[in-house]
Amino acid sequence: MTVAPESVQQSATVCWCCGREFDDRDLVRLGAHPEVGVCLGCARFLQRRAEEREDQLRPTRGARLRGVVRSVREWVISRRWHELPVIGALLRRIDVRLP
Ligand SMILES: [Zn+2]
Repeated sequence: MTVAPESVQQSATVCWCCGREFDDRDLVRLGAHPEVGVCLGCARFLQRRAEEREDQLRPTRGARLRGVVRSVREWVISRRWHELPVIGALLRRIDVRLP
């Protein structure tokens, strides 16, 4: 079965957070405002910001531990180690699994 070219829709949309262009399937939409889409990387960033805010509002032992992880992450990013060829890829893989 072939698909007519006019039925294939290539829709690139701009992320409302970082401003980069993405294919529509790579964006997460807001429930009440479906016109707003953020890319997966920005969605992960926003999730971490929300968790940080929750930790500030309700400090616990786990919140302090997540704060240490955040501090280490910011320290690594400030030195741009996450952009290094080999160690950067490893650091990014580890980061995906961290809170
Ligand atoms: Zn984005």
